[in-house]
Amino acid sequence: MAYKITEDCISCGACESECKNDAISEGDAAYVIDPEKCTECVGWFEEARCAEVCPVGAAVPDSDNSETKEQLLEKFKKLNPGQEPVDGTY
Ligand code: SF4
Ligand code: SF4
Repeated sequence: MAYKITEDCISCGACESECKNDAISEGDAAYVIDPEKCTECVGWFEEARCAEVCPVGAAVPDSDNSETKEQLLEKFKKLNPGQEPVDGTY
């Protein structure tokens, strides 16, 4: 399940540099997450970094983009060739 950013986003930019998959970018009205690049932080962190750093709780799981841990790990491997997933993050 990819994360998404809601309209509560105040465009502070804090989440963008935290995403190791480069899934977050600045949009017109709010920051946006590319679901093709979001692994829920599987492979990098135990929790979703964008949700952890967001001061207004605007980064949330997107139930329309539901995926299994195995699918998220495969996505991580495709996005980060040669990178071993960090222990405890998948
Ligand atoms: S959950 Fe992780 S991978 Fe997905 S957008 Fe947030 S920081 Fe990036
Ligand atoms: S950290 Fe939260 S408020 Fe700031 S840009 Fe990201 S989603 Fe928007």
